[in-house]
Amino acid sequence: MYIFCCKNNVFRVKSSMKDTIQNLRGFPDFSIEEGNQIGFILSKLLKIGKSFGFNFIVPPILEPIELFQRGLGDTDIVNKEMFIFPYKERKVCLRPETTASVVKYCINNNVHRGKFMYFSQNFRKERPQKGRYRQFNQFGFEIIGIPSPFREIETFFFINQFFKSLGLNYILKINSIGSIKTRTAYVNDLEKYFKTALEKDENALCQDSKNRLERKSILRILDSKALEDKQTILEAPKILSYLEKDSAEIFKEVVDFLQKQSIPFEVEETLVRGLDYYNDIVFEIKCDRYNAAQDSLGGGGAYDSLFETLGSPKTNAFGMALGVDRLILNEWPMESCALDAYVVLAEPYFDILSEVLSSKKYRVIDYFVNIPKALEKAIKNKINFLIIIGDEISTGHIIVKNLEKKDQQKVKIGTFKDL
Ligand code: AMP
Repeated sequence: MYIFCCKNNVFRVKSSMKDTIQNLRGFPDFSIEEGNQIGFILSKLLKIGKSFGFNFIVPPILEPIELFQRGLGDTDIVNKEMFIFPYKERKVCLRPETTASVVKYCINNNVHRGKFMYFSQNFRKERPQKGRYRQFNQFGFEIIGIPSPFREIETFFFINQFFKSLGLNYILKINSIGSIKTRTAYVNDLEKYFKTALEKDENALCQDSKNRLERKSILRILDSKALEDKQTILEAPKILSYLEKDSAEIFKEVVDFLQKQSIPFEVEETLVRGLDYYNDIVFEIKCDRYNAAQDSLGGGGAYDSLFETLGSPKTNAFGMALGVDRLILNEWPMESCALDAYVVLAEPYFDILSEVLSSKKYRVIDYFVNIPKALEKAIKNKINFLIIIGDEISTGHIIVKNLEKKDQQKVKIGTFKDL
């Protein structure tokens, strides 16, 4: 049982309870301001998503581990970052990402064409730091069954519209990793290249990358941020020169579109993204206003083989995920839609209160039963309006006091919601 005592509206937790109800590391509570920022960003994303025709989808948080083991393959997420629990004689995990969950939904519901967006809490055992948590919030979408270049164009257009609405400059980094056939040929050559580099200089790669080479996790070496690896990666063969005709054509169409629309982008030939399910176009969104550790705001790409990997007929798909916790590291000026007010309700006139609550002009922050107390709090908390439902009810009026202008207005009952 939690026991609180309240003094001056500040709740103090009895010291014996303090450790029990502390947040777990990497599982933050956001402040009220941060919470409002998340709501603000989400409302923008949902509005754009709705206007683009995306349906909102809410997949479960607890999932069978095989979904990610099969779907994501040999990745850090699967190898060491999932929260795994025994449940009814099988193993389940907290969802580490949402794409595989949306694909599972589509397969189970026989959906092979459609557009879905989500706001999801995902879980990964990462080392917590600012902008990197063990429970984190993503907004994302998946475009199922719609061919290239429509799906890419729609995605980059969405991203541009969203960042423009925030007034934030972003950098879109794109690359194409081609088909599985392309990648097999490329990975062979890349492996040979890294091995030759190490024969010439044993320090050409850091230990982590050497381990990846050993484990044949060759593409992941390109993701390495280690300084020792920088030059070796820079001189490595580039995947774009391996693309087959179809992949090269899609890449060109997308690049042309971005150029014509003046959507800022850079081709980054070492960008491969960490998951096995990607093919062809992959991308990442970065922002130079952020520190390097949190500069990745989102990413995604095509995953045309994931449906098959999970046992369904081949269905092409493309998606992206944005890190909402990263976005709120910046403060966004939120449009204020209404004036903050306190309500003073001396008698239980709840019907009239419901009229006040439907007003678009004022939003009710708190309630009081007498004017002096409401005034004292309003001055302290810089609330400019008192809506008084009291004696004037007898003449059919509500009083609105403007504390800043030191005047008041009588509003006829029945007209308040139209103010
Ligand atoms: P991913 O699913 O790894 O492609 O991540 C997509 C985006 O989600 C990243 O660019 C980050 O903005 C965000 N993200 C990923 N992992 C975390 C985390 N542990 N904490 C906060 N945000 C994250």
